[in-house]
Amino acid sequence: MNTGKRMTRQRRIILDDIRKNRIHPTADEVYKSVRKRLPRISLGTVYRNLDLLARTGEIRKISIAGKQMRFDGDKSDHMHITCVRCGKLTDIPDDPRYCDVCRETLADSGFVLQSVSVELFGVCPDCREDEDEER
Ligand SMILES: [Zn+2]
Ligand SMILES: [Zn+2]
Repeated sequence: MNTGKRMTRQRRIILDDIRKNRIHPTADEVYKSVRKRLPRISLGTVYRNLDLLARTGEIRKISIAGKQMRFDGDKSDHMHITCVRCGKLTDIPDDPRYCDVCRETLADSGFVLQSVSVELFGVCPDCREDEDEER
């Protein structure tokens, strides 16, 4: 029974999976992965739990225009770069220089910077290797 604020076993397993899985999985990928431990879970339940975990701040939702929503168990400030070939998302440690630029740019605007959201795109090392082999 789901009483009070106790996390359900399902939710804990889902959270666990996202934290361990450093690939920033989509809901489908989480579903495939947790089914090994929760064979009877439905995709709808996975979606519901992901939504709840994001709302309570346990995980981060990453939405990139035109791409499937992804989930990140690492809540620290960092940026992501998306591979334009395979769609893989890689962590980029927050670059403080970038934030300094933002702060300077914003200095005269009267705004106080709270968060920075940048979409970076590139070709990942794996895909670059494939390209080299094709040559
Ligand atoms: Zn790639
Ligand atoms: Zn990340």
